[in-house]
Amino acid sequence: MGLLDGKKALIFGVANDHSIAWGIAKALHDEGATVGFSSVEMLLEKRVRPLAESIGSTFVEPCDVQSDEQIRAVMDKWQAAHGEIDVLVHALAFAKREDLDGAYVDTSRDGFALALDVSAYSLVALVREARPILHRGSSVLTLTYYGAEKVVSHYNVMGVAKAALEASVRYLAADLGPDGIRVNAISAGPVRTLAAAGIAGFKKLYGSFAEVSPLRSNITIEDVGKTGLWLASDLSSAVTGEVIYVDGGFNVLGVPLAE
Ligand code: NAP
Repeated sequence: MGLLDGKKALIFGVANDHSIAWGIAKALHDEGATVGFSSVEMLLEKRVRPLAESIGSTFVEPCDVQSDEQIRAVMDKWQAAHGEIDVLVHALAFAKREDLDGAYVDTSRDGFALALDVSAYSLVALVREARPILHRGSSVLTLTYYGAEKVVSHYNVMGVAKAALEASVRYLAADLGPDGIRVNAISAGPVRTLAAAGIAGFKKLYGSFAEVSPLRSNITIEDVGKTGLWLASDLSSAVTGEVIYVDGGFNVLGVPLAE
């Protein structure tokens, strides 16, 4: 018996087998969920479909989350193939590379709008378009980072986007709560992924993390997957509007220093 036997999960944001979304997909699949994927078109055939097939999934659809039409098309196809959504995972973000370097004060107007649109508004759009096929007991999950709360060098506009995303989680949880739909975020410690590679200084941040975090280790996509599984399952039935840290305790430190 798996924790998610008979459940159906739609996952946005797999780029490759290092993606956090893939860690979550595997954890949900291992506990019995049927999993489907949506990612940007360019990644689909070479990267996403082989991964999907490795866990017996045939639902692989393109979507640029800046397009409401494309989001709607994915939801329509999901409904035709699977009916309802039990678990909706939003694990994507984007900012211009030049806005993840240098000073936040130099962020351009269009760079700000792009980062906020892809990384924060997209959660609102996904939930809105999915709402007709979400139901009592459905769980929505997104990914955030500590840079939403505290200044992390070079995280810049993405920190502001994640702050908007975390606030959206609370507002969406309040909107959808009366219908029994839960919305939560996981705040993950640094994980080596394609998106992370775009942040100036990420190597340094990743390298020192295991020396200072209370659990003295880096975070893996399996770690995030396990908390994703808990949030997706009935084990977290009364948890909504929360940001749950999967960061080895890093966020509790006042002045993180290596011994
Ligand atoms: P990833 O493997 O690079 O995944 C990010 C995904 O977002 C990619 O598939 C990317 O596609 C997609 N994306 C970007 N713009 C999109 C758009 N307009 N429409 C649809 N998809 C789009 O990186 P990841 O680190 O796993 O990121 C997943 C989530 O975790 C993000 O929200 C990230 O901020 C968050 N997070 C990451 C870390 C970390 O250290 N890695 C820590 C905490 C939170 P392209 O490759 O085509 O851009």
